[in-house]
Amino acid sequence: MNNKRVIIVGGGLAGLYTAFQLEQLNIPYLLIEAKDIFGGRIYSEQPEVNDDKTLWYDLGPTWIFPHHHRMKTLVANLDQQLFQQHIEGAVVYQENVNTQPQIIENGQGQLLHRLTGGLYKLILALQAKLSIYNYQLGSSVNNVEKINGIWQVTVKNRKDTSTVVHQADHLILALPPRIICRYLTPENWASKRLTQALVSVPTWMAGQAKFVATYQKPFWRNKGLAGQAFSRTGPMVEIHDASAKNQQGFALFGFIGLSPQAIKSISTEQLKALCIEQLRLLFGDEAQQYDQCYLKSWGNDDYVAIEQDRTDPPAHPDFNILGFSDELSSLNLYLAGSEFAQQDAGYLEGAICAADIAIGSLKKEFDYIN
Ligand SMILES: Cc1cc2nc3c(=O)[nH]c(=O)nc-3n(C[C@H](O)[C@H](O)[C@H](O)COP(=O)(O)OP(=O)(O)OC[C@H]3O[C@@H](n4cnc5c(N)ncnc54)[C@H](O)[C@@H]3O)c2cc1C
Repeated sequence: MNNKRVIIVGGGLAGLYTAFQLEQLNIPYLLIEAKDIFGGRIYSEQPEVNDDKTLWYDLGPTWIFPHHHRMKTLVANLDQQLFQQHIEGAVVYQENVNTQPQIIENGQGQLLHRLTGGLYKLILALQAKLSIYNYQLGSSVNNVEKINGIWQVTVKNRKDTSTVVHQADHLILALPPRIICRYLTPENWASKRLTQALVSVPTWMAGQAKFVATYQKPFWRNKGLAGQAFSRTGPMVEIHDASAKNQQGFALFGFIGLSPQAIKSISTEQLKALCIEQLRLLFGDEAQQYDQCYLKSWGNDDYVAIEQDRTDPPAHPDFNILGFSDELSSLNLYLAGSEFAQQDAGYLEGAICAADIAIGSLKKEFDYIN
């Protein structure tokens, strides 16, 4: 048995940010993450060809919205920079396979921000702020119980499958609600009402898949195109310029409009080839001369999506956390994942928002004890 006063489960943005704040407040904690890397839905790949160690391509979130002030503050506090999504140029619209794609001038939509170098840099910057003795990677929580007022958190090492039980007075769950149901046995510790609420709230973007192709030159920009396209034929339904800042690291990315089941039924190489062919139809033959291409199906990631997320149409999360204040407080339980936010739930901003509320409640408990 190991003793720690606070355990945080989940090392996505919400969990890492919470750990960073507890580190600054000198509150001892243990952060437990199932995967071998932090970031959760923030996941990016590095180009192999140009070996640029400062450049990442986002396969999870890309954009920070103009009103995402908490995110902007975090970015500034971690000495990172934002730049504007490239939108100059015409938009391409693909109605069906038998007609030429249409070119639409001035149809780009709102101005969004991106993190210079890719969003994974934010995760690396947060991780660098944590003491390595305060976190465990590759460790999946697969049971949670409350015995005599103490949380018992069973953690399985994913490499050697050994298990350890950690004890905590306070438990912070930086996870989507449905993932809590999947791994953390709420029937052991939560009311029926809370368990039902957890399973009913969808995980934002959980059924999505993303494709990125990198290029030496922004051939689409040179033709007066923004790199933005909308398609009713697929496999990608929405495409954007994913290039790095300052005329380097050129790329396009697209959301794949296939279900997680359909994606699983074809090989990754086949799907990548279909995406490249679609880019060729939309932006020209140069699309075939890509350097690298990457694909990530979030719907087939067992630490993000459950069966319902794979089959239900996408929906915004709406969890009435205030309706459970008494139960959560009596359990010393804090729900910090983005889906629990009262504003921008499901988004990056929501992760910071929910974590800030959880940290505030925990801090009150510690101020009271000390
Ligand atoms: C394709 C895609 C595009 C998106 N685009 C945008 C965007 O442009 N802008 C925006 O604001 N938001 C976007 N989002 C949403 C954004 O990614 C999320 O809001 C944010 O990353 C959620 O962070 P989180 O920490 O709350 O949850 P998560 O990132 O889901 O983190 C949860 C963590 O818990 C871990 N975990 C799960 N189960 C266990 C277990 N049993 N034991 C231990 N650890 C466990 C997971 O591995 C993960 O690391 C997008 C999401 C996706 C998938």
